[in-house]
Amino acid sequence: MNIASWLYRTAHRLPEREALFHGEKAIETYDGFASRAACLGQALRDRGLRSGESVAIFMGNRPDYLISLFAIWWGGGVCVPINAKLHPKEAAWIIAHSGSRFVLCDTEHAADLRNVEATSRILDITEMSLTPVVGEPSTLPESKGQDDLAWVFYTSGTTGTPKGAMLSHGNLVAMSLSYLADVDDLRPLDCMLYAAPLSHGAGLYCLPAVLRGARHCIPFSGGFDGAEVLALARKLDHVSLFAAPTMVRRLTDAALQQRQSGEGLKTVIYGGGPMYQADLLRAMQVLGPKFTQIYGQGESPMTITVLSIPDHGSIDLPGPHIGTVGRPHSVVDIRITRDGRPVPPGISGEVEVRGATVMQGYLNDPAATGRSLRDGWLMTGDIGTIGAEGYLTLADRSKDVIISGGSNIYPREVEEVLLNHPAIHEVSVIGLPDPEWGEIVMAAIVATGDNPRLEDELDRLCCDAIARFKRPKRYVRLPELPKNYYGKILKTELRRMLT
Ligand code: AMP
Repeated sequence: MNIASWLYRTAHRLPEREALFHGEKAIETYDGFASRAACLGQALRDRGLRSGESVAIFMGNRPDYLISLFAIWWGGGVCVPINAKLHPKEAAWIIAHSGSRFVLCDTEHAADLRNVEATSRILDITEMSLTPVVGEPSTLPESKGQDDLAWVFYTSGTTGTPKGAMLSHGNLVAMSLSYLADVDDLRPLDCMLYAAPLSHGAGLYCLPAVLRGARHCIPFSGGFDGAEVLALARKLDHVSLFAAPTMVRRLTDAALQQRQSGEGLKTVIYGGGPMYQADLLRAMQVLGPKFTQIYGQGESPMTITVLSIPDHGSIDLPGPHIGTVGRPHSVVDIRITRDGRPVPPGISGEVEVRGATVMQGYLNDPAATGRSLRDGWLMTGDIGTIGAEGYLTLADRSKDVIISGGSNIYPREVEEVLLNHPAIHEVSVIGLPDPEWGEIVMAAIVATGDNPRLEDELDRLCCDAIARFKRPKRYVRLPELPKNYYGKILKTELRRMLT
């Protein structure tokens, strides 16, 4: 099944329903959304796109993004969404690596890309004179099998060169149904708001919203602005959005500043990186109990485990599993292994996942595919433990674990403790090479105020909460932490800066 059929069918069922919003303004009904996708899909075919060929998308968050995704599928192509904040040379690398036949851009990105000699054909979607289609789309989406490729998901590249996880139409169907079953049971009344990059998880979430005939809103700023999100939620009501943990923090700050309580927000789905408990509890206090956590990766998009709204408990009584990343999505199995062998609950090891959402492999990279997929199991590279009632607790990525004097130290555990100090705004704990200990624990902190005794206070906090050998031996104060375009802290970069 072609995933674009969902748009075709919803447009049939609910033609007059408002579908696309740019900021507060409704700009397209479902009928218009489907017609524009069909028309652009046909325009790509007319320009020579053949079935199964890739088309890259390099543009900021805007309504055209959603139209482009469906247009590519409609025309039988494979979408290659590229983070709009990448350098044009990095984008050109992905375009070449994916063998994209065309690149759909906004004017700004088209100009940037033309400067670096990308080989594919760059189409400025704002300039394409597409014949407006009124009424029902004339062509049906091209027929697809469930294993046919739909989306090449380039990993965010926190380490090294990005890899293209190949996701099929079947993978995307499974991800969407699991979203509706486990994360957020969307209704036509609801509105999916895209404040995180559409090239990543937020974009994938347009699929269940299309299936259910919900509204889609792209903020006018094209990015994440806490005050804007709060204003849009108030105006549009029943809003669901995906937010990286750093965005949740910014949303909470904005709400506190404006004395608001997240009116109109239905569900805030967070994930993509560790959410510290102190931040989560603060967010629940300010915005209410409307949080769902997901743990996933491009290779099993947004779908490994989920910590539901009821799992979070109430503001006064947080749920007992709030420090975990939840239980497996309905469509996958998870297991923990050591040296490739499954271990029982309570023992930590590498998290592996198997099921209908797991990628087909990495594009043009059989060696990396062989390292990541074994007997249908995807090796996530994350370390975790399955505990009581099947809840998964993530420690850290295996490469971030610090080995000091022969003992394993999980940075996340130390970070959680340090964040309880009111002056700590952000923190990242890393291991630095040391001749005596192998590695020593170092904490990079972003702190408010200039308390000269802060480090002593942090040390006492650690002594009260964790084993002495896990305490940072060194602290460094920084104005900010290095992050990638999705807001993830770049530990590799931090190590490079501080070594
Ligand atoms: P990406 O493929 O770029 O989305 O990165 C996926 C990685 O982000 C995972 O392998 C985890 O290391 C991390 N991650 C994703 N979701 C969570 C979560 N809820 N908590 C902690 N880490 C997460």
